Amino acid sequence: MIDFSLSDEHKALIETAKRFSRERIAPIAAACDHESRFPTEVMEAAHELGLVNMTVPPEYGGAGMGELENAMVTEQLAWGCTGITTSMLANTLALTPIKLGGNDEQKKKYLGMLTAEPRFAAYATTEPGAGSDVAGIRTKFSQKGDDFVLNGQKAWITNAGFASFFVIFATSDPAKRHKGIAAFIVDRDTPGLKVDKHEDKLGQRASNTCVVHLEDVVVPKQNLLAPEGEGFKLAMETFNQTRPDIGALATGLMQRCLDESVAYAKDRKTFGVPIAEHQMVQAMLADMAVGIEATRLLYQKAAWNLDNGVRDPIVSSYAKVFGADRAMQTSIDAVQIFGGNGYVRDYPVEKLMRDAKLLQIYEGTSQVQRLVIARQITR
Ligand SMILES: Cc1cc2nc3c(=O)[nH]c(=O)nc-3n(C[C@H](O)[C@H](O)[C@H](O)COP(=O)(O)OP(=O)(O)OC[C@H]3O[C@@H](n4cnc5c(N)ncnc54)[C@H](O)[C@@H]3O)c2cc1C
Repeated sequence: MIDFSLSDEHKALIETAKRFSRERIAPIAAACDHESRFPTEVMEAAHELGLVNMTVPPEYGGAGMGELENAMVTEQLAWGCTGITTSMLANTLALTPIKLGGNDEQKKKYLGMLTAEPRFAAYATTEPGAGSDVAGIRTKFSQKGDDFVLNGQKAWITNAGFASFFVIFATSDPAKRHKGIAAFIVDRDTPGLKVDKHEDKLGQRASNTCVVHLEDVVVPKQNLLAPEGEGFKLAMETFNQTRPDIGALATGLMQRCLDESVAYAKDRKTFGVPIAEHQMVQAMLADMAVGIEATRLLYQKAAWNLDNGVRDPIVSSYAKVFGADRAMQTSIDAVQIFGGNGYVRDYPVEKLMRDAKLLQIYEGTSQVQRLVIARQITR
C-alpha cells in the first residue's frame, strides 16, 4: 500500500526546521554570501535543536533519524540558504562512511564527538587531478609499522576550515585504481595536515571550501576505516546514501524561487496588469511548481528506499540529477521573472541562481549521474 501522508512527528519536525530556516538562516543568508562566511552560531543553534547529524544512531548519542527525516529537514533548511545547509550536510557526508564502515570504537569516538557538541567534519575524495574519476586519486598511503602515512592533496573540501576530523580516501598505488583505495579518519590536529586556500566561489559562498595538504601524516591503525580495496566501495555507498539530500536541497531552493517569484509577479505590473497575469510568466511559475513536486517525490522515494532496505541506488541518482537540473532552470526562470531586478543583489534570486549551479557539480556531476543511470539501464 502506498501512503503519502506525513505522521504528526514528521509534521512537527518539518515545522521546527521551517521556522529555523526562516528565522535563523534566511535573514543572514545574503550577508554570509557576500562575506563568504559560514555562520558558526547557526551550526550551534541547529545542533541545539537536533537539526544536524540527525542520522547518528542513539547508541552514539544521536537521534537515530532516517534518511527521509534528514532529507525533509534539509529541504526546509535549504529554503533559507543552500550554502549554509551544505555545510551542515557535509557533516552527514563525513559521518555516513563511519556509520556504514566504522567499528564500534570509531563510531563511539567520532559520531559521539559530533553529537556531544556542535562540531564540523569533512569528507575528502576529490583532488586537483581527480573529481569525477574517484578511482583516479593519487593521495598515497603507506604502512609504517602498525600505522599508516598519508601524502597528497585534497581539493574542494567542504567544512575543511572548521572540521575536527576528516574522512580521507587514499591509495596504495594509483595504478591499482579502485582496488588500491582505503579510507582513514584523520584528526584535524595531526601533524602534517594543513588546511590551505579557502575558495572564492560563485555560489553557496557561506559554505567553507578549502584545499587540504597531507605531508607525512601519520594515522594510527585504529583510524583505518576501510582497508585497501574497500575504500572505493565505501565512497560509492556513501554517495548513494547522501544523494537524496541533494534532491532535497534542490527542492528547498526551488520552493524559495517559486515563493519569491509568485510574490514579485503579483506585485509587478506591466501593460497595466500584474505580470502574474501574463501567460508566459504563468508558464514559468507552473514549471517551477511541477519541478518542486517531482523532485520532492524522487528524493523522498530514494530516502524511503534507504530507510527500508530497498536496494535501488538508481533512484538516488534520479533524485540528484533531476533535482539539480530542475533547480538550475528554475532559478534561471526566477531571475527572468524579476527582469532587471533579478540581476542585482538587492533581490534574492540572483543568489539562488549562483547557488543552484553547484547542485549540478558536487557529489557526482549531472553528466556522471547520467552515466551511472545509463550504465544501469543498459546492463
Ligand atoms: C563548492 C564545492 C564543494 C565540494 N565539496 C566536496 C567535498 O566536501 N568533498 C569532496 O571530496 N569533494 C567535494 N567537491 C568536489 C566535487 O565533488 C567535484 O568537483 C566533482 O565531483 C567534479 O569533479 P571535478 O571538479 O574534478 O570535475 P571533472 O571530473 O574534471 O569534470 C569536468 C567536466 O567533465 C565532465 N565529465 C567528467 N567525466 C566525464 C565522463 N566520463 N563522461 C561525461 N562527462 C564527464 C564533468 O561532468 C564536468 O562537466 C566539491 C566541489 C565544489 C565545487
